[in-house]
Amino acid sequence: MTRALITGVTGQDGSYLAEILLAQGYEVHGVTRDVDETVTPGVVVHERDLAADSAIGDLIQDIQPHQIYNLAALSSVYQSWQNPTLTSRLNGAVVSEMLAAVKAIHDRGEIDIRFVQASSAEIFGAPAQSPQDENTPVRPTSPYGASKAYAHALVGAYRTAGVAASSVILYNHESPRRPETFVTRKITAAAARISRGLQDTLELGNMDARRDWGWAPDYADALVLAAQHSQADDFVIATGKSHSVRDFVAAAFERAGVDDWADRVHVSDSLLRTGDAPLQLGNSSKARQTLGWSPTVEFDGIVSAMVDHDLSQLS
Ligand code: GDP
Repeated sequence: MTRALITGVTGQDGSYLAEILLAQGYEVHGVTRDVDETVTPGVVVHERDLAADSAIGDLIQDIQPHQIYNLAALSSVYQSWQNPTLTSRLNGAVVSEMLAAVKAIHDRGEIDIRFVQASSAEIFGAPAQSPQDENTPVRPTSPYGASKAYAHALVGAYRTAGVAASSVILYNHESPRRPETFVTRKITAAAARISRGLQDTLELGNMDARRDWGWAPDYADALVLAAQHSQADDFVIATGKSHSVRDFVAAAFERAGVDDWADRVHVSDSLLRTGDAPLQLGNSSKARQTLGWSPTVEFDGIVSAMVDHDLSQLS
């Protein structure tokens, strides 16, 4: 039976990934900081605070998984400015500990672990070229992007040293499991509450920012395809279509049945970000050709699924 270890198993991506792997008959191990967090049934849970202790290498040695999916991260660009040191520890140093453990096991000839790093479009910062692909210069503009860039480079270095490590460069991917720290869920939750008279207004930052928003379960599929592919590599995972935050707002309020949204949505300077990329757009041709991956849900379908979920929670 194939054994997988997922860090960040309670997050949006970790939960979808665990479901996919369990359905494929894997033995799935998950690392969580807090055993009281909801973990997908069937996952073998290991309690570890990756930010505080350095026991991840020992855990890898104990489990000897065939595949590792590193999804644990401080995952918000905004929060990375509030907690830059925690960001570098969790998103950077922990990856180094994991790869060192994987290489040690590889060098002893015990098992060739396939390592998949959940990387991010934020490694490209505010890119000069559009769309971005695997060869776009890595020039992050936030502590989050810098930490992910370090991990991305490290994966490449270990791959050169013979470890089967892939870096999957994920563009924004959304679902009803997204927390409200992300703009999409903040918008859909607010649109649902405003439509029911439970909230009056919504405060946002940069509404002109354009993002390449995909459907999170598709991105979990991409991680599995990368792990199962014979050749470890870097892969951009994106839809290749961009929309503005304003587009997302308009679509969400329309779905929630609110026509006068322009009066309800205000821009707050405090929510504007330093170094915010005006446009992120990914070219996933390599993943489509090499892994056979393609997105299954379009922008409108994503917005509708999230708004419908948030409305259902209120009824
Ligand atoms: P990120 O791209 O991974 O940081 O995902 P987010 O969902 O947090 O942000 C996506 C875009 O929405 C960025 O360009 C933000 O600047 C923009 N944005 C505008 N208003 C907000 C807001 O109120 N909250 C968040 N999180 N992002 C906002």
